[in-house]
Amino acid sequence: MLYVTKSYLPEPEEYYEQLKRIWASGQLTNDGPLVKDLEKQLQAYLGVEHLKFTTNGTVVLQMALKALDITKEVITTPFSYVATTNAILWENCTPVFADISPDDFNIDPDAIEPLITENTQAILATHVYGNACQIERIEVIARRYNLKVIYDAAHTFGASYKGRSILSYGDLSTCSFHATKVFHTIEGGCIVCHDPVMERKLYNYRSFGHRNDDYFSVGINAKNSEFHAAMGLVMLPKVAGLIADRKQVASWYDARLNFDRIRRPTISPDVDYNYAYYPVVFESETVLLRVMAALKADNIIPRRYFYPSLNTLDFLPATSRQACPVSEDYSLRVLSLPFHPALPEAEVERVSRIINENV
Ligand SMILES: *Cc1c(COP(=O)(O)O)cnc(C)c1O
Repeated sequence: MLYVTKSYLPEPEEYYEQLKRIWASGQLTNDGPLVKDLEKQLQAYLGVEHLKFTTNGTVVLQMALKALDITKEVITTPFSYVATTNAILWENCTPVFADISPDDFNIDPDAIEPLITENTQAILATHVYGNACQIERIEVIARRYNLKVIYDAAHTFGASYKGRSILSYGDLSTCSFHATKVFHTIEGGCIVCHDPVMERKLYNYRSFGHRNDDYFSVGINAKNSEFHAAMGLVMLPKVAGLIADRKQVASWYDARLNFDRIRRPTISPDVDYNYAYYPVVFESETVLLRVMAALKADNIIPRRYFYPSLNTLDFLPATSRQACPVSEDYSLRVLSLPFHPALPEAEVERVSRIINENV
């Protein structure tokens, strides 16, 4: 079976080297030495000063909304993983969906402004597939209307915008280190902020809002373990090489697919890309379903990502059902192809041939 992705696993011996440190310290979790070490290395790698390592890339979205006192309307993208919308709903805020740009599939800044009301408090946008949103335009709107900006940067690890990690933008930026992402700690995530006061707040949130006998605020359990940090410490030095391998695999698809009948999102020229995914858009859902069936007959399982358009989820409140024609259309026609750093050229050839025969 060839799936949409395959998690990178280091040699067991490399992981074991890090595990020995856990046996030496006797500390398994609760902000242990490997977690601290990983945070330091992540800050250096990403060029950010304030970063907290967490259990996943969803809880950090919830923490971000809480930390910025967001309780009302959040303008967000309908073209993302469901965690983006769910975090807003979970925090009892109201998602308001702005449509996406037909070129880069990210939230369309022109669609944001008409949706702003006196209850709008934040913009929560996803840098889709690792490609940056129109960051400056979003910033201008946020400043004009006094809104907070949170970026779901789950796809962007290792990608930069204008020479800076994409994770360094926004009031808060979050990332996922899930096993399927470009950099992973099996399960994990992080949140990036810009000052020590916010960092302290997030640090407290991460462990129930207290330290020892001092109780500061509400909190949740978002601490990650030493075992997850160990995987991160093994993975981090390999990330640049893995991204280079991804770029190679992408170039094989680029050379083979028939782009007369297939569209790809445009990547901003200001982005140093991380090749997180290989999405393609077909002419219609009928073509997509035909391609999927043909691939499945050859034991190839791509993924409809993102589908459905999040503004159409049937558990949304009536106030969150803004029409988003571009997102609704693309979500019916977009497919993420099998794509990971170790995918052999012959497999790219096989997938591409089946697609070209069926578009
Ligand atoms: C993966 C992902 C998440 C969730 O991350 P987890 O670590 O799995 O909780 C959130 N948003 C986007 C856009 C993602 O791709």
